[in-house]
Amino acid sequence: MNVFFDVDYTLIAEDGSLRPFVRETFEKIKLDGHKIYIWSGVGIRWEVVRRHDLKSFIETCYLKPLSDYRETLIELGVDIVPDFCIDDHSGVVLAFTGVVVKPYYTKNPADEEMHRVYSELKKFKKA
Ligand SMILES: [Mg+2]
Repeated sequence: MNVFFDVDYTLIAEDGSLRPFVRETFEKIKLDGHKIYIWSGVGIRWEVVRRHDLKSFIETCYLKPLSDYRETLIELGVDIVPDFCIDDHSGVVLAFTGVVVKPYYTKNPADEEMHRVYSELKKFKKA
Protein backbone atom coordinates (compact mmCIF):
# COMPACT_ATOMS: atom_id res chain seq x y z
CA MET A 1 0.00 0.00 0.00
CA ASN A 2 0.95 3.62 -0.45
CA VAL A 3 1.02 5.13 3.03
CA PHE A 4 1.03 8.92 3.24
CA PHE A 5 2.08 10.89 6.31
CA ASP A 6 1.38 14.55 6.92
CA VAL A 7 4.24 16.52 8.53
CA ASP A 8 3.23 19.32 10.91
CA TYR A 9 1.61 18.07 14.13
CA THR A 10 1.54 14.55 12.70
CA LEU A 11 5.27 13.73 12.53
CA ILE A 12 6.76 16.81 14.16
CA ALA A 13 5.83 19.33 16.84
CA GLU A 14 5.86 23.10 16.52
CA ASP A 15 9.51 23.16 17.65
CA GLY A 16 10.43 20.71 14.89
CA SER A 17 11.03 17.79 17.24
CA LEU A 18 10.12 14.34 15.97
CA ARG A 19 7.11 12.58 17.46
CA PRO A 20 8.00 9.50 19.54
CA PHE A 21 8.14 6.18 17.66
CA VAL A 22 8.05 7.72 14.16
CA ARG A 23 11.29 6.04 13.15
CA GLU A 24 10.28 2.66 14.65
CA THR A 25 6.87 2.86 12.97
CA PHE A 26 8.41 3.73 9.58
CA GLU A 27 10.74 0.74 9.96
CA LYS A 28 7.83 -1.62 10.66
CA ILE A 29 5.71 -0.26 7.81
CA LYS A 30 8.61 -0.72 5.37
CA LEU A 31 9.26 -4.24 6.63
CA ASP A 32 5.59 -5.05 6.04
CA GLY A 33 6.19 -4.20 2.38
CA HIS A 34 4.40 -0.85 2.16
CA LYS A 35 5.67 2.37 0.60
CA ILE A 36 5.88 5.51 2.72
CA TYR A 37 5.38 9.01 1.35
CA ILE A 38 5.53 12.31 3.15
CA TRP A 39 3.40 15.22 2.10
CA SER A 40 2.60 18.63 3.43
CA GLY A 41 0.26 21.44 2.50
CA VAL A 42 2.98 24.04 3.04
CA GLY A 43 5.73 22.62 0.87
CA ILE A 44 7.90 19.68 -0.11
CA ARG A 45 9.57 18.94 3.20
CA TRP A 46 12.93 17.37 2.44
CA GLU A 47 14.50 19.49 5.20
CA VAL A 48 12.41 17.63 7.80
CA VAL A 49 13.32 14.27 6.27
CA ARG A 50 17.00 15.17 6.33
CA ARG A 51 16.97 16.68 9.81
CA HIS A 52 15.48 13.52 11.29
CA ASP A 53 17.38 11.13 9.03
CA LEU A 54 14.25 9.49 7.61
CA LYS A 55 15.36 9.33 3.97
CA SER A 56 15.95 5.58 3.95
CA PHE A 57 12.32 4.87 4.88
CA ILE A 58 10.48 7.01 2.38
CA GLU A 59 9.88 6.97 -1.35
CA THR A 60 9.53 10.70 -1.85
CA CYS A 61 7.96 13.96 -0.65
CA TYR A 62 4.93 15.59 -2.22
CA LEU A 63 2.79 18.67 -1.86
CA LYS A 64 -0.50 17.82 -0.18
CA PRO A 65 -3.78 19.10 -1.62
CA LEU A 66 -5.69 21.30 0.79
CA SER A 67 -9.09 20.76 -0.81
CA ASP A 68 -10.60 18.68 -3.64
CA TYR A 69 -8.11 16.08 -2.52
CA ARG A 70 -8.58 13.51 -5.23
CA GLU A 71 -9.11 15.99 -8.04
CA THR A 72 -5.93 18.01 -7.37
CA LEU A 73 -3.48 15.12 -6.98
CA ILE A 74 -2.35 15.20 -10.60
CA GLU A 75 -1.85 18.97 -10.78
CA LEU A 76 0.31 18.76 -7.66
CA GLY A 77 2.41 16.07 -9.33
CA VAL A 78 1.21 13.23 -7.10
CA ASP A 79 1.17 10.44 -9.67
CA ILE A 80 0.05 7.66 -7.33
CA VAL A 81 -3.08 7.33 -5.22
CA PRO A 82 -2.75 7.20 -1.42
CA ASP A 83 -4.21 4.04 0.10
CA PHE A 84 -3.85 5.06 3.73
CA CYS A 85 -3.24 8.56 5.14
CA ILE A 86 -2.07 9.67 8.56
CA ASP A 87 -2.94 13.27 9.35
CA ASP A 88 -3.95 15.51 12.24
CA HIS A 89 -6.71 16.92 10.01
CA SER A 90 -9.63 14.78 8.97
CA GLY A 91 -10.06 16.08 5.39
CA VAL A 92 -7.39 13.99 3.71
CA VAL A 93 -8.23 10.97 5.84
CA LEU A 94 -11.91 11.18 4.90
CA ALA A 95 -10.98 11.46 1.22
CA PHE A 96 -8.58 8.49 1.10
CA THR A 97 -9.08 6.62 4.42
CA GLY A 98 -6.48 6.30 7.15
CA VAL A 99 -6.04 7.57 10.70
CA VAL A 100 -6.60 11.00 12.20
CA VAL A 101 -3.96 11.45 14.89
CA LYS A 102 -4.09 13.65 17.95
CA PRO A 103 -2.19 16.82 16.91
CA TYR A 104 1.38 16.74 18.21
CA TYR A 105 1.81 20.42 19.07
CA THR A 106 4.51 20.24 21.69
CA LYS A 107 7.25 17.78 22.52
CA ASN A 108 5.82 14.94 24.59
CA PRO A 109 7.88 11.80 25.24
CA ALA A 110 4.73 10.03 26.52
CA ASP A 111 2.92 10.32 23.17
CA GLU A 112 2.01 6.90 21.77
CA GLU A 113 -0.09 7.84 18.74
CA MET A 114 2.34 6.13 16.38
CA HIS A 115 1.57 2.78 18.00
CA ARG A 116 -2.11 3.35 17.29
CA VAL A 117 -1.29 4.34 13.69
CA TYR A 118 0.58 1.09 13.18
CA SER A 119 -2.17 -1.06 14.67
CA GLU A 120 -4.83 0.68 12.53
CA LEU A 121 -2.70 0.16 9.43
CA LYS A 122 -2.30 -3.53 10.28
CA LYS A 123 -6.07 -3.88 10.59
CA PHE A 124 -6.76 -2.08 7.31
CA LYS A 125 -7.33 -4.15 4.21
CA LYS A 126 -7.21 -2.35 0.92
CA ALA A 127 -10.61 -2.59 -0.79
MG1 LIG B 1 -0.72 18.64 9.98
